[in-house]
Amino acid sequence: MKDLIVQIGAEVLRHKAKPVAKKDFNSPQLKATIAKMRRVLAKEEFGVAIAAPQIGVPLRMFVIAAKAFETDKKDGEDGTLEQDSLKRTTGRSVLRSPKERAEENLAEDAVASENSRSKDMVFINPEITRLSRKKKEMSEGCLSVRDVYGSVLRHEKASVHAFDITGKPFDYHASGLIAHIFQHECDHLDGILYTDKATRLRKDTKEDTDTEDIENKDTEEHSHEN
Ligand SMILES: [Zn+2]
Repeated sequence: MKDLIVQIGAEVLRHKAKPVAKKDFNSPQLKATIAKMRRVLAKEEFGVAIAAPQIGVPLRMFVIAAKAFETDKKDGEDGTLEQDSLKRTTGRSVLRSPKERAEENLAEDAVASENSRSKDMVFINPEITRLSRKKKEMSEGCLSVRDVYGSVLRHEKASVHAFDITGKPFDYHASGLIAHIFQHECDHLDGILYTDKATRLRKDTKEDTDTEDIENKDTEEHSHEN
């Protein structure tokens, strides 16, 4: 079966993607592209994010799956106090339009204030505006590099300025997993793959690990694919 996600070796993954033009915000075509990104991502058990070039569209945008924000919260429970308090502010730092807020029901709002999101988040024309001096190594994978994992040293905290699908700007300050995802995805938009930066790259094929009883362990060790 043909992979829905463009794989390493394809030109589109090595080019600098183009910004989404002002006139294209809210257009049916942009909406369709984002819907496709979300659909493709949703099929990936370990996928937490996807950039447009990964579905062959050379535009500067990426989607982070709702589950990544939940995982991030779980990760935070094991973190230091400092990380914990930072993570708690992360959810509140998202600026949402009144319309967007109205679309979410009250229960969802309550959850959002607890720093987890029940919706995928779209970042269009993202720019990293701040990076912490402190770095952290994390295990990464990439949907465009199947069955390979590696460790990447990235900034522990990252802030992104981006636009939503309607063209409304917002800022998102993140730490931990989401900060790593920001850096991985922004690299995609500049034609950089994590394998360019990773150490201890290893193959981890399904044939090696595909026994039912280690499924949960698998999830932990596979880390996340973006
Ligand atoms: Zn990737």
